[in-house]
Amino acid sequence: MNANRLRTHTEPTVLFIDMNSFFASCEQQDNYWLRGRPVAVCVYTGKQGCVIAPSVEAKQRGVKTGMRLDEATLICPDLVPVETHPNRYRDYHVKIIGVLKRFADEVLPKSIDEAVVDLTRYQLAYSSMTDVARRIKQAIRTDVGDYLRCSIGIAPNAFLAKLASNLQKPDGLSIISPANIDEVLGKLALTDLPGIAHGMATRLRAGGINTPLELRYASPDRLKLVCKSIVGWHWHLRLNFGGEVDMATQAYKQMQAIRSVSGAQRQSVEMLETILRTLCLTLERRMVRQQLFCRRLHGWVRYWNGQCYQDELAVSVPMQDGIDMFQVLCGRMTNYQQAHGGKPLLNPDVRQLGVGVTDFIPANRVQYGLFEDNTRKDKFRQTLYAINDRFGPKTLMRATELNPENPVKELIGFGSIKDLHELTDWELV
Ligand SMILES: [Mg+2]
Repeated sequence: MNANRLRTHTEPTVLFIDMNSFFASCEQQDNYWLRGRPVAVCVYTGKQGCVIAPSVEAKQRGVKTGMRLDEATLICPDLVPVETHPNRYRDYHVKIIGVLKRFADEVLPKSIDEAVVDLTRYQLAYSSMTDVARRIKQAIRTDVGDYLRCSIGIAPNAFLAKLASNLQKPDGLSIISPANIDEVLGKLALTDLPGIAHGMATRLRAGGINTPLELRYASPDRLKLVCKSIVGWHWHLRLNFGGEVDMATQAYKQMQAIRSVSGAQRQSVEMLETILRTLCLTLERRMVRQQLFCRRLHGWVRYWNGQCYQDELAVSVPMQDGIDMFQVLCGRMTNYQQAHGGKPLLNPDVRQLGVGVTDFIPANRVQYGLFEDNTRKDKFRQTLYAINDRFGPKTLMRATELNPENPVKELIGFGSIKDLHELTDWELV
């Protein structure tokens, strides 16, 4: 989907829907007892478990994403830890997108709990955008779940609509238009703008741009110079109603799989290896679905003391096989340990494991070495996923994926939902 356009548009006709405390609200939706209570959704609910999504009530008590459960319980003793249920969140996401599609064809999911609805073509059908926003909130409550709340931002483009959705939470409804944009931006810092993190803010400040208002009124040429790329021009367009630059689904540039490790898991090297292998297989599954092979592989291990082991390599033969990736990463860890000594890289201080792939080429352009028979292996992978897609996940598993004593849980993130969306489109038919 590419609904970007480059022409001035000042009418607030783009809606950004952001579900409030989404994972926790889904849990409260399904379990009546959790409603009104401070809930913390965690991948693991041991003492060292990490809060990945606090409920509205927990946020009000000071619980934040990323806190460890023991810390969170200190400030909120009646906190209820709940384990994640990725399938539950996926189901609600699919239902919510279904509701949004009743209002317009132009619905672009941005993450598992966010979507843009572009009503620019529907100004004759809907005379009041705030009315539509209220109807959307109501439809989500009646047709998806009565405990689900969202903040909706309305603006002339997707970026400003997202910014508007952040202004009031939970259950907010805010508009940004030419009439109030300066007032809104005047109260914010650069890093309050979605997409401006610390690095970008530093670059802008070095170029003499210290506030969102200065960013809005800087000339496009100056912004291009300061940002050293087209990104500067995009900022000019977003803040001056110059068009839409955020309504395209981006092609894959990279994929990552990351897992925080529980206190029990990090005690066993075998378990850490199992997690690393699962991460590689997750990336394999995504690459098979997207018919991509990667030419760069990246692995990292983060430790509790803040240290990090990083490894990145270009591969001579494009890769897609998860077990191959796992073996390459493990082999290089062993070499590193042998060469540099010190503690084993997989040890009880591990906090997080991650694998990333990038530099993709389409599967049909992969050329094999003359003496390697990878074709059969590739065919096997495709068949494996085709069967699992047809009959449900985990119908077929490789022996290496089986580890009945220590199943590694699937983690669903707030970020990319590209893979999910293939599924969504299929399910909505
Ligand atoms: Mg949200």
